Amino acid sequence: TWESVPQAPPDVIFQLTAAYKADKYEKKVNLGVGAYRDNDGKPWVLPSVKKAQAILLNDDTVDHEYLSITGLPEFVASAAKLILGKDSAATSEGRVTSVQTISGTGANHLAAVFLARFYDWSRAGGEKKIYISNPTWANHKAIFNAAGIEPVDYPYYDAKTVGLDFEGFTGALKSAPNRSVFLLHACAHNPTGVDPTKEQWGAISDIFLAKGHMAFFDCAYQGFASGSLDADAFAVRHFVAQKNIPLLICQSFAKNAGLYGERVGALHVVSASKKQEAAVKSQLSVIQRAEISNPPAFGARVVSLILNDNALWEQWNKDVKFMAERIIDMRKQLHSLLTEKHKTPAPGGNWDHILKQIGMFSYLGLTPKQVKYIVDEGHIYMTGNSRISMAGLNTHNVAYVAEVIDKAART
Ligand code: PMP
Repeated sequence: TWESVPQAPPDVIFQLTAAYKADKYEKKVNLGVGAYRDNDGKPWVLPSVKKAQAILLNDDTVDHEYLSITGLPEFVASAAKLILGKDSAATSEGRVTSVQTISGTGANHLAAVFLARFYDWSRAGGEKKIYISNPTWANHKAIFNAAGIEPVDYPYYDAKTVGLDFEGFTGALKSAPNRSVFLLHACAHNPTGVDPTKEQWGAISDIFLAKGHMAFFDCAYQGFASGSLDADAFAVRHFVAQKNIPLLICQSFAKNAGLYGERVGALHVVSASKKQEAAVKSQLSVIQRAEISNPPAFGARVVSLILNDNALWEQWNKDVKFMAERIIDMRKQLHSLLTEKHKTPAPGGNWDHILKQIGMFSYLGLTPKQVKYIVDEGHIYMTGNSRISMAGLNTHNVAYVAEVIDKAART
């Protein structure tokens, strides 16, 4: 029956992990996957999550009934508060629809299906298109294509400066048809680690207002950029405060709660009125019902407890800060080894981008040939675009990684 099924190519990131696992070399390093690791290279269960789990396991009132179609009410309400802020006018005015999703991927998917069906494309140039940064998280293209929305690149990363192509980005915002949909990474851009500054976000939101564009925020790293959950919500809150920018937010708790496998996330759609909110909620429920019926309960309960208990909340803030600071420290160590110890020739003239880039990833700016050398000779696994997960570095392997990067940069 399945003779006619062609073999699909394997997923690049998961292929890298498999190659890393099969490698017998003692000093091998995995800088491919974007998952936090502790200083011994091990997955880290956050202390706040451990405590919340223990409370749940001892709570006799917790059963295994279905959640509602839109998820655990106290989870989605507190998740909205986390990204929009405690005093968000949009929330108090009843303009935010929040639906629990299968982590960030599920939120992107649900939002894509909703837009494909209900966005008024006739007033947005007539074609179903979403503008995505070049580069972006590889799955974005697949998710939008699958929903029948054509992903179109907008300029974002400037290889010459290893930084933001602000002119290119704002130029694309200005030249796109009015009311276009633009995907924005809320913070800690994946894969580049390059975020707009606050001033640049201000200029970007002005263009959204002038053009009537819709902002599709993907927020997978709140807390990972700066270590502060509030500070990392700046861009989203700034856009929401402009009131007249239509927007939605895809929120993931995979990274900031270390709940990768539990698939905890939410989609928040901000409407102009309470009436619109009700209609949006009804349609998101219809889509969700046909796709997954109801979202999974356990991870949402864990996060909900953390967001609603003072002691757990404080512990979680410390946990997030701890992860962000370890990553920032690894940036400093790698930068100092390359610049001071090895005096390694750098793309763009210096290695300061390693310090400036934000969040889980760093885009080294190396050529595919240099990356190949690092993977083949150094057994250090990274994607061909020279993106490394900073969380894969630690005090035991950073000197070795710097040494191999130095050799590669000189080949
Ligand atoms: N968006 C971006 C930009 C990401 O980097 C990720 C995680 N790699 C996600 C969404 C979704 O991840 P998850 O489905 O695990 O929450």
